[in-house]
Amino acid sequence: MAAQNQIDTSNDARQRLPAVHRLLSERRIAAFEAILGRECVKRQVNEVLGKARHEDGRDGGRLIDSIVARLESCLREGLIGVVNGTGILLHTNLGRAPLAGEAFDAARALATGYCNIEYDLEAGARGSRYARVGALLVEITGAQDSLLVNNCAAAVLLILDTFAKRREVIVSRGQLVEIGGGFRLPEIFERCGATLVEVGTANKVYVKDFERALSTRTGLLFRSHLSNFAVRGFVEEVPPAALVALGARAGVAVVEDLGTGALVDLQRFGLRGERTVQQAVQEGLDLVAFSGDKLLGGPQAGIIVGKRALVARLRANPLLRALRVDKVTLALLVQTLRVYATQEYTKLPLFAMLATPLDDLRKRAAEYCARVPGARAARVQSCLGGGTLPDASIDSYAVQIDDARAELAVRLRAHSPPIVGRIEDGKLFLDLRTISPAEDVVVMRALQP
Ligand SMILES: *Cc1c(COP(=O)(O)O)cnc(C)c1O
Repeated sequence: MAAQNQIDTSNDARQRLPAVHRLLSERRIAAFEAILGRECVKRQVNEVLGKARHEDGRDGGRLIDSIVARLESCLREGLIGVVNGTGILLHTNLGRAPLAGEAFDAARALATGYCNIEYDLEAGARGSRYARVGALLVEITGAQDSLLVNNCAAAVLLILDTFAKRREVIVSRGQLVEIGGGFRLPEIFERCGATLVEVGTANKVYVKDFERALSTRTGLLFRSHLSNFAVRGFVEEVPPAALVALGARAGVAVVEDLGTGALVDLQRFGLRGERTVQQAVQEGLDLVAFSGDKLLGGPQAGIIVGKRALVARLRANPLLRALRVDKVTLALLVQTLRVYATQEYTKLPLFAMLATPLDDLRKRAAEYCARVPGARAARVQSCLGGGTLPDASIDSYAVQIDDARAELAVRLRAHSPPIVGRIEDGKLFLDLRTISPAEDVVVMRALQP
């Protein structure tokens, strides 16, 4: 209140509205300057004052309240943290994999100062941007060589541009996917000047189909992870090793857009059937492309591993310069990969969430029930999301609020921090597997009627 008393609160004269500089030095308003900048704060103050000029009876306290409310909504327009109650671990709209705090701290030290990103300290001359991360990738995946670009889509682009321009690429019809964000393989082929040669049917393809499609114009044999869907039933796929054997006979490179990029067998977290990068390398694929922020649990990046001679050709493509990653990504990726080198997987939030025992989640759900009127514990299924393991579901517990009208979800999204849940049949579910125990207090408070 003391702060408000500095302002002239008489409501009889419009000209007696407080001066801009007085408002800017108000404690509650000035606090925003450090985050939003003086110009933004000033603009909001001026806009509120401009409105107040046309209204009589404005008092100073209310004026400050409305300025603060506007500044708060400015903050919300920026990038802010949210509580993920969706149970989707790699939610692309919520930033995919949360990074390991330890990796981030180490990267912070590098990113906030100078570092030897492209400098060879021994030679005192320019070095390779990719040397350190490359060494780790080779060590972990068993591949001969590796390369890094901005994301997996860029990795596919670079591969096609290098090997498939004005050439034919043979792909199974069942793998011509559209991943999220409108990235459709056939369109990317076309953009890269490659001629798509589709073989097989949506559900069945044989080695002989690929063999028949081979020609002197064949640039690549291409495999793609199905990403966000699965095919079941009367299905026949060409095993990667068989395609590799065909490629070797024909002298054509075999490439896989693996997307998901698991570097550890997910069976240890109860998830079956996801091919790891190491497996793809062992099967002999010439190049394998995958994302850094899916099952790897790191920053957005596109990673290519494979045969030395082919990676060398990618490295020589001038397009690489346009796709190169910055020091922050490099630092984060190196630190994330160290977790794999030391096999301390649960240092990565993705695996910590996957490894959380169901009973822990059940107990937390019971805690919510005790504290939030109308809350019930519900057995639900979390999933991975982000274009990975469309079939996999993970047992979990959620806090369920019945007869949750749409208002509740709206109110939770407007909360600070925003809480994003799942609405099904008029019920609200907040899946505890993707909510950290540290967030429980905030969520419980937000759920109070
Ligand atoms: C996710 C995915 C991509 C795109 O990866 P980004 O890193 O998001 O560019 C490409 N291909 C497949 C098969 C994918 O699953």
